Amino acid sequence: MSSCPLCRSANAEFRSATKGTSFEGWCPTCTNVKITSPAIDLTRQQGKAHLLSAFLRDLPERNWQTLEYITEANVERLTDSVSEIPLVEQFDRLLSIVCELTPRFGEASSFSYEKDWPLIRAKDSSEALAMLKALKADGSMVAEDRSGIFVPPTATRKAFERYAELKNAGPMSSQAFVAMAFAPLYADAWHSIIKPGIVAAGYRPFRVDQKEHADKVDDLIMAEIRRSKFLVADFSGQRGGVYFEAGFAHGLGRPVIWMCRDEEKDKLHFDTRQYNHILYTNFAEAQTKLRDRIVAILGEGAYKSE
Ligand SMILES: [Zn+2]
Repeated sequence: MSSCPLCRSANAEFRSATKGTSFEGWCPTCTNVKITSPAIDLTRQQGKAHLLSAFLRDLPERNWQTLEYITEANVERLTDSVSEIPLVEQFDRLLSIVCELTPRFGEASSFSYEKDWPLIRAKDSSEALAMLKALKADGSMVAEDRSGIFVPPTATRKAFERYAELKNAGPMSSQAFVAMAFAPLYADAWHSIIKPGIVAAGYRPFRVDQKEHADKVDDLIMAEIRRSKFLVADFSGQRGGVYFEAGFAHGLGRPVIWMCRDEEKDKLHFDTRQYNHILYTNFAEAQTKLRDRIVAILGEGAYKSE
């Protein structure tokens, strides 16, 4: 047993691959880790070590198998792919996870603040503990406070009611909002790339009815974006509404996946050109890229198409 070089959690198994300048191993918090010392120093200096733990924790197993060493050269790209989430949303996420990890009503959840804090993007275990105590204070959790240690929390009826609400809303939903041009020229991208790509990642694609909403962003659209976990924006055709919808989702803190036909990449608006777009010519390849990017950012969803 040794402690994790990244999050300092105990009960980890690590070996130093090259005389203390790099580490390989497993930690109950970060799961699989392969990292160099300079990468750890850099991410700590930037105050982003907790985001790197979250990145590793969320990594699907099949991606971990191909994971290369985290070094000074790639560590910033990895931490930047994980966003901080607002505190209110962290509480919602904590409550949802505690409920999800409850075998049945009245029993304790298997959520452990000591090892599971990256799931709610907390800074460390003590922040997760403080949040659990706040949920206990408002009647959402019951927990024994054995000498100040918060043993497995038990979600109350109030917590399950809130959880039911959250499942249909925003960050906890399985819905992906699709913003794109409706002209027939772009219909193929919807049928061959976007819809099957989102479904393959385990989410439910949502596109507003074409006729009524072409060229206008109304209350229904904004409500559906709020209800969505993320947004896929295809800028092919350069519709103003697509830019608006992507900006609105981005402002709400929802991840946006940017796409465009390769032949139109020079038409992309100057202000958003710096985002990493999936540029496509080949539809089958684009479908796989879209699925992979969704899974990399959000993890695999549980939605199965009927
Ligand atoms: Zn760790």
